[in-house]
This record gives sequence, structure tokens and C-alpha cells, in this order.
Amino acid sequence: MRILVTGGAGFIGSHLIDSLMAQGHEILCLDNFYTGEKGNIDQWLDHHNFELIRHDITEPIRLEVDQIYHLACPASPVHYQFNPVKTIKTNVMGTLNMLGLAKRVKARFLLASTSEVYGDPTVHPQTEEYRGNVNCIGPRSCYDEGKRVAETLAFDYYREHKIDIRVARIFNTYGPRMLERDGRVVSNFVAQAIRGIPLTVYGDGTQTRSFCYVSDLVAGLIALMEGDYIGPVNLGNPGEYTILELAKTVQEMVNPDAQLVYKPLPEDDPLQRQPDITKAKEYLNWEPSIPLQEGLKLTIDDFKQRIRAEGK
Ligand code: NAD
Ligand code: UDP
Ligand code: UDP
Repeated sequence: MRILVTGGAGFIGSHLIDSLMAQGHEILCLDNFYTGEKGNIDQWLDHHNFELIRHDITEPIRLEVDQIYHLACPASPVHYQFNPVKTIKTNVMGTLNMLGLAKRVKARFLLASTSEVYGDPTVHPQTEEYRGNVNCIGPRSCYDEGKRVAETLAFDYYREHKIDIRVARIFNTYGPRMLERDGRVVSNFVAQAIRGIPLTVYGDGTQTRSFCYVSDLVAGLIALMEGDYIGPVNLGNPGEYTILELAKTVQEMVNPDAQLVYKPLPEDDPLQRQPDITKAKEYLNWEPSIPLQEGLKLTIDDFKQRIRAEGK
């Protein structure tokens, strides 16, 4: 099959491409390199089944494909808040263009949505029926509301134009290739511990997140694309940890002497987050299998290698 992966040079997109290439598909990787890295797709650049397209999805593009994994969008709070209007354009105009493309070529379209559509949730764990608690004028809303509109567009193209859609609500995902400058908690803690600088805990560290290893997530995305269930479906690891627990785990694994420093909690930072994955289990026969310690070890090894290479 010929498959378009938007945001394919990013963290999740590049791991997804590794799996799809291994399955023998022809891959079009589309990226504007806002937060993506050439290094993530280096291994495929000369492969005859792989094509790289530098393009910004806020502009229309004509391509011929069978499936579209639509992942293009900055994902970490630091990046998506850096240029919030661009984040909205990417989610709204970008998703509209990709749905227009799906409509023209009759491709199946998978949207990488997010647990952020639940905002600071008042229902715990979050089920797909929960409609969320999002501040529409806060610093996170360019992303949260952007993704909510992207979901609306997908469902309207489904109802109005019979587009074959799939909607995944992805929860916090981590693993090798996360950018050190990304600002996300796992990449920050791991890099800080390796560099021997204090781990920055925002607030009192009692807020929770549930961390899914990237290979598990990619398997979930592919299962969703290949199955009949259109979603929205939560994809994440239900193992829930406080940020302080995560800091202590990284500290123990990398550097027991590393210090913790407390910094102010960012505005609108959700207090708790944990996916209810009943639907993913039932409809996709999917659940994550990599425990946090194991996934962290693989992530730490990757960061150590990159940080060492930088010093050479
Ligand atoms: P990432 O920042 O590593 O990847 C996003 C990619 O999209 C980058 O390569 C970037 O250059 C590209 N991009 C951004 N704007 C673009 C534009 N206008 N045109 C073309 N390309 C553009 O992020 P990621 O963690 O790999 O996330 C991928 C997708 O998964 C995103 O849609 C994100 O919202 C979603 N998601 C991720 C997580 C997570 O924990 N990583 C959680 C929930 C949802
Ligand atoms: N679009 C695109 N590539 C295509 C087909 C459409 O980028 O192959 C864009 C198109 O430019 C438009 C958007 O997708 O801005 C929505 O397309 P659709 O056909 O649904 O709407 P219309 O063009 O009628 O507004
Ligand atoms: N966080 C932290 N220290 C950091 C980076 C993040 O304590 O160096 C916290 C952040 O305030 C949030 C949680 O970790 O409560 C997850 O943050 P991240 O940016 O990774 O993802 P998101 O908030 O989008 O879930």
C-alpha cells in the first residue's frame, strides 16, 4: 500500500514509519521540520520504498495515496505554545487539507488526536464518552481546542463525505528519539539526570500522568488503521504515576545523587490523567505491554548515546 505519514520526521511518526517500512509498504513522509529531525528518518532516505516531502500542511498538496496517518502538529507544551496561532492553523487548516486529500483520492484517514481533548479532567480515568474540561482561552487551548476541531472535522467529513476515518486519542508517549529540547517531562528528567543537573519538578509533583512506550503506541495506531472501529479510541498505558514518582524512578535508574528542584506549575496543567482503554482492548485487541522501568531503560540508553555523541 502507499501510505502518507504527516509529521513523519517527528518522534512518533518516525517510529511508525519504521514499522510500516518493515511491513513492506511504500511510504510518503511529509514534514516541515518544525520539530522533526532528519536524523529520525536517515535510515530510509535511500530506500526505494521511501519518499521525503518537505511541505507545510497548512498549504494544500496533491498526492496519490491509499492511507493517511495524520500526525503533523507540534506535541510538547513548549513547542505548541511557542507559536500558538501556527498550532491552530496546523490543526485546523492542516487537518482540513489532509481530509480534502483523503476525500479526493478516497484514502483511509487516521487522526492523531490527544488526551488533551479532555483538558483538566473531572472524570477519572478518562473514557471516550467524557466530553472534557478545556479552558478555551488558556495557553494550552491552541493545542487542546485545535485537536477538538480536528476531531470535529474528521467526523464531519465522515458524515458528509463518507470519508473512512479513524480517530486515536493518544496519551503521554515516550521513548528513544524524543528531543532533549522538547520540554516534556520524560525527556527533561532523563537528560537532566544524565547531565548531572537537578531534575525540574513543576508544582509539588503530585499531578499524575500515564506513560506509554512508543512501540506499544505505534502498534495501537496500526491496529486502529487496519480495523473496522472508527473511534475515537484512547491509546495509552493505564499505569498512572505522580510526577514525583517519575522523578524518583529516573533518579534511581540514572543517578541516585541527582537533586530535585521545584519550579512553578504551568497554567492550566492538568492535575491527573489516566486512560480507560476498555474500548481499545475490546475493538482493537490492543493493550500496552512495556512496563515503565523497561521503556525508561531503552529511553535512557538512547539519550546517553546521543549526549555522548554530542560531546565527541
Ligand atoms: P513531534 O513534534 O515529534 O512530531 C510532530 C511532527 O509534525 C514534527 O516532525 C513536525 O516537524 C511536524 N509538523 C508540525 N507542524 C507541521 C506542519 N504545519 N506541516 C508539516 N509538518 C508539521 O511530536 P510527536 O510526539 O511525534 O506527536 C505526533 C502526533 O501525536 C501529534 O499530532 C501529537 O499531537 C500527537 N500526540 C502525541 C503525544 C505524545 O505524548 N507524544 C500525545 C498525544 C498526541
Ligand atoms: N486539498 C488538498 N489536496 C487535495 C484535495 C484537497 O490539499 O488533494 C485541500 C483543498 O485545497 C481544500 C481542502 O483540502 O482547501 C478541503 O478540500 P475539499 O475538497 O473538502 O473542500 P473544498 O476544496 O471544496 O473547499
Ligand atoms: N513537568 C515537570 N517537569 C518538567 C516537565 C514537565 O514536572 O521538566 C510536568 C508538567 O508540569 C506536567 C507533567 O510533567 O504536569 C507532564 O508534562 P509534559 O509536558 O510532559 O506533558 P503534558 O503536560 O502535555 O501531559
